[in-house]
Amino acid sequence: MTEQNQADRYSRQVLFRPIGQAGQAKLAAARVVVVGAGALGTASAAQLVRAGVGQVRIIDRDIVEPSNLQRQLLYDEHDAEQALPKAEAAAAKLRQANRAVTIEAVVADLTWRNAESLLTDADVVVDGTDNFQVRYLINDVCVKHHIPWAYGGAVSSYGTTAFLRPGTTPCLVCLFGDDPGGGHDTCDTVGVISPVVQIVAALQVAEVLKYLTGNLAALSPGLTTLDVWRNTWRQVSFGARKADCRCCGQRQFSLLAPAADSLTVSLCGRRTVQVRPAAGNVAELERIAQRLAAVGAVRHNGYLLRCDLGDVQITLFADGRALIHGVEEEAEARSLYARYIGM
Ligand SMILES: [Zn+2]
Repeated sequence: MTEQNQADRYSRQVLFRPIGQAGQAKLAAARVVVVGAGALGTASAAQLVRAGVGQVRIIDRDIVEPSNLQRQLLYDEHDAEQALPKAEAAAAKLRQANRAVTIEAVVADLTWRNAESLLTDADVVVDGTDNFQVRYLINDVCVKHHIPWAYGGAVSSYGTTAFLRPGTTPCLVCLFGDDPGGGHDTCDTVGVISPVVQIVAALQVAEVLKYLTGNLAALSPGLTTLDVWRNTWRQVSFGARKADCRCCGQRQFSLLAPAADSLTVSLCGRRTVQVRPAAGNVAELERIAQRLAAVGAVRHNGYLLRCDLGDVQITLFADGRALIHGVEEEAEARSLYARYIGM
């Protein structure tokens, strides 16, 4: 690209008065970390890279699969055939879109061990995850280190988003308590359509651009929920932070302690991994069994359910604990749990 072309690149964004040349320079100096490179994360990362955010780190633990292509717009059939790691595939695509941005791919499961080293140099963190376990971990890191983050979730035809600023807005624990409960709908049980994901990611990026360019008065003052199928759009004001909040009130960052690692335990020699979600999780077996019936053969009694997904079988107990049969890796078992049980 010529120098003139480079100058033209951001011309429409610079013409937008609240950003202007000064805002563009702030974007170029900023670093954003996107956690998760599924539908939400890739949509966010693409907009941030094209907007000229100087440094973008993309973290993801999964590989590209054919079922991703319907809504994860950065990937193509070649990526799925090669089973490329999503973080690498996304970074490769985006380097072609804007070589002026430093794009870092991290193929990893975000856990208490690596979360602080991967997130704390960010000006803003963007949530592109598919489960609350990782969102609460992001929340602990961001509150502890005073980093704003853009929460986002999309399942079926509905989505939720909020821009959370430690010390100013409530945190995720203030909003939803410390246990969102088990058995959430997930994209792997009730599906998801692409439009809602693109909208939620766009709303997340809008907040990030406002924040990074210093347009704080324009930030959304609450939690936004929308449903593109039912034509609803609702915003609930944040209200006050909870003084007794474990995380932002008492500053107890329990998810950053090694004890939180007891979430998964490998059972050697049986190609079985036990996944134990956060304390107090109760699985509603009947409801989960109905959902899983769409993806595999399910049997259940009052104590447990078993779902056969072909190469993998899941045994879920009423206390939320699951045995994932047919896998070797803890990360894979955790991923399957998030996809099919939800957490
Ligand atoms: Zn809080």
